[in-house]
Amino acid sequence: MTQRELTCITCPVGCHITVTLSGKEVVSVEGNTCPRGKEYAVNECTNPMRTVTSTVACKDGRVLAVKTDRVIPKERMMDCMKMIDSAVVKPPVKIGDVVLSDVFGSNIVATENLE
Ligand code: SF4
Repeated sequence: MTQRELTCITCPVGCHITVTLSGKEVVSVEGNTCPRGKEYAVNECTNPMRTVTSTVACKDGRVLAVKTDRVIPKERMMDCMKMIDSAVVKPPVKIGDVVLSDVFGSNIVATENLE
């Protein structure tokens, strides 16, 4: 048995959660004060997901702030960053415009306006 100590990031309370694992299987979750904490802890230990934020180069030399519009598997973050690094956009761009589509189940979208 192994234990993982987590801080739940689902809400601002930030409960301290202890997850007991047998191999990759979750045996118990303690410390959460609501069901969302248990769900977070189990997902974090079995299939962690992340939002990626970064910047994309523009043809005019500026950079555009972007993020995934959904969470993606944590293990694919570096591959996602490589795809973002190789992208180049041509302004104008508006918040929410898709810069790259179908990136590990997400889209890369602009988080700022560029004229
Ligand atoms: S366990 Fe529930 S109350 Fe505690 S931080 Fe997570 S979501 Fe918030």
